[in-house]
Amino acid sequence: MNVIETRALAKRYRRTWALRDCTLAIPGGHIVALVGPNGAGKTTLLTMAVGLTRPTAGTLAVLGSEPPGSPAALDHIGFVAQDAPLYRSLRVADMLHLARNLNRRWDQRRAEDRLERLEIPLRQKTGDLSGGQKAQLALTIALARRPALLVLDEPLAALDPVAREDFLASVVAAATGDGISVVLSSHVLAELERVATYLIVLTRGQVRVCGPVRELIATHGAGLEEIALRHLRAQVPSSRTEAGR
Ligand code: ATP
Repeated sequence: MNVIETRALAKRYRRTWALRDCTLAIPGGHIVALVGPNGAGKTTLLTMAVGLTRPTAGTLAVLGSEPPGSPAALDHIGFVAQDAPLYRSLRVADMLHLARNLNRRWDQRRAEDRLERLEIPLRQKTGDLSGGQKAQLALTIALARRPALLVLDEPLAALDPVAREDFLASVVAAATGDGISVVLSSHVLAELERVATYLIVLTRGQVRVCGPVRELIATHGAGLEEIALRHLRAQVPSSRTEAGR
């Protein structure tokens, strides 16, 4: 089953094409690294996948054939937006309470156990948590929804190297332990290299590379970081055979 599948997907904001002619099929069971320079269209693609942004043209399906934003899609996708938005004045326990009331598949035990392991106190105000703790709380809430697909938009940006390691270890555990497919946008290529099994490179709203990391390494004779860097530096269209595989 493809977790995200697009055909000629495009999004225009007034005069700006944030995404153009985007055709790709992401199979389940991967940790997908979505990389691209600022303004490449990563957030636009991810927010369309979770049903927060409507396409201007083309089609998009999630988890097989579900339209994004449909009840079935919403029930099975966990999304952590850029900067892990949380209600700063609420305590951690209140954030969990709020999320529990909003989600039918909520697993309170899992959320509390995870926060205990991470030593994040339930009584603490979310606004007083460190950047790493906030990111972990947002991830905990997303995971407690028991998603089939986890979508993370630049979750590493504000984290120090140790917090990044911890966060990525949690993502890998969710993917390998619970079989959750993950799509993760980030600029931190070295870290992605260690965890990603599938790579998408977007530049100027177009897909330049899309495929399993193992196959791309065999084709390009380079690792994820080097493949991504080549395309980010060049910022020119690759052949259509490279995109949408
Ligand atoms: P970054 O790495 O900086 O987060 P990104 O790859 O996520 O960038 P997007 O946020 O998807 O890029 O933006 C793609 C393009 O669409 C940019 O040119 C941006 O200015 C434009 N854009 C995004 N959202 C809007 C909006 N709500 N209104 C107008 N233009 C927008």
